[in-house]
Amino acid sequence: MAWDFSTEPEFQEQLDWVADFCRNEVEPLDLVFPGAAYSRNPKAKALADPLKQQVKDRGLWALFLDRDLGGPGFGQLKLALLNEILGRYRSAPVVFGTAAPDTGNMEMLAAYGTPGQKEKWLYPLMNQEIFSAYSMTEPQGGSDPNLFKTSAVRDGDQWVITGEKWFTSAGARADIIFVMCTNGMFVVPRETPGVEIMGYPPLHNHIRYNEVRVPLGNLLGPEDGAKVLAQRRLGGGRIHHAMRTVAQVKLAFDMMCERALSRESHGKVIAEHQMVQEAIADSYAEINMLRLLVLWTAWTIDNSSTQAARTQIAACKYTMGKVLREVSYRALHIMGSLGTTNLTPLQAMWAGAPTMAIADGVDEVHKVTVARNVLKGYEPHPGLWPTEYIPAKRDEARKKYAGLIESDPELAAWADAAVRATARG
Ligand SMILES: Cc1cc2nc3c(=O)[nH]c(=O)nc-3n(C[C@H](O)[C@H](O)[C@H](O)COP(=O)(O)OP(=O)(O)OC[C@H]3O[C@@H](n4cnc5c(N)ncnc54)[C@H](O)[C@@H]3O)c2cc1C
Repeated sequence: MAWDFSTEPEFQEQLDWVADFCRNEVEPLDLVFPGAAYSRNPKAKALADPLKQQVKDRGLWALFLDRDLGGPGFGQLKLALLNEILGRYRSAPVVFGTAAPDTGNMEMLAAYGTPGQKEKWLYPLMNQEIFSAYSMTEPQGGSDPNLFKTSAVRDGDQWVITGEKWFTSAGARADIIFVMCTNGMFVVPRETPGVEIMGYPPLHNHIRYNEVRVPLGNLLGPEDGAKVLAQRRLGGGRIHHAMRTVAQVKLAFDMMCERALSRESHGKVIAEHQMVQEAIADSYAEINMLRLLVLWTAWTIDNSSTQAARTQIAACKYTMGKVLREVSYRALHIMGSLGTTNLTPLQAMWAGAPTMAIADGVDEVHKVTVARNVLKGYEPHPGLWPTEYIPAKRDEARKKYAGLIESDPELAAWADAAVRATARG
């Protein structure tokens, strides 16, 4: 029986451990020492590193990477199940070695890096000895890579990069930045002369690359291959975001249900008001639709490739923003005034929904991808009528029974009457 929605018991045991570990170790660290898991401060590191070691000891570190690259090689489906837990906790992804933007960059390095590049950047990234950022979007337009201008010119044994990027997440604290140029993808150490990080936006940096010189070996993949590498990178990144979004909407749902049972209004607990029930019922269905779409996509990647799952990944991309927006809004609303404050996770979750619909490509572009790819499986109808135009189909079907209808007028009359009755109905 191939259609099976269960999790194998050994992995379920791991997931149960992860849920306990996140609740008992990661969340308290997050609440008391926010950002410790990312910090280079020795005291903060001393708190976070033992947790990372426990994850490594359980064989759950960098779950997205294949075995030959140092991960456990569990694949995307198991990563999806893991991320359904990790996504609830701010620093859990970094404690498990699966945090963006490093994961997407590592996948790109794993797929296109030479052995020397992997040695230099992939393994240190995996071990969080260094952190990275991804610099693709430009101020004049992000959705259309044809508008990008940042380029590299070869000068002897160096590439000289000139251009301007915008919204490079964590660019200011990254050790290396993957810079998409019109003629290739380059790895640029942040401290290289000419890398100018502007004051705003503070977290998603505006960066000028002023004749930045890097060695020839910092070109990743082939010359002119940047768009292919970007697709590889963003495909992985998008599905990982979708996995963590499942965790977020489940958290919102748990909060919604708890509140619905805890609060009274107009003579009954609010869970007994039908409009609250509608919010719960709609959210339940939407969360499970998103979850199954994400798991099916992860399964497809495991059984083919990220490229083969492109349509599904795009569908996950715009569905996650929509479900996050709807479910977090309903949960926030049911929480009443408290929901509008930053004293629960709901306000930030709802405010994050537009980001999900923009970062890694705006929803419109992904919808275009889905529609285009889906339409490749269709053709225009050959004649005037749509294929499912019933009178034309019936005329065609009557040919199958022509002999019978001609030889039996009584049956023919019955058929005509039955068709007329259907038309009236
Ligand atoms: C929190 C956050 C983190 C980010 N991190 C990174 C990062 O680390 N690295 C990086 O390189 N970039 C990053 N980005 C940038 C992100 O990838 C871009 O914002 C995105 O690609 C859209 O580009 P834009 O902002 O220039 O919007 P535009 O391309 O100007 O689009 C604006 C609007 O125009 C409309 N539109 C555009 N194209 C179409 C179309 N084809 N059809 C219909 N409507 C369309 C849509 O309504 C769209 O929302 C991040 C963005 C956010 C919000």
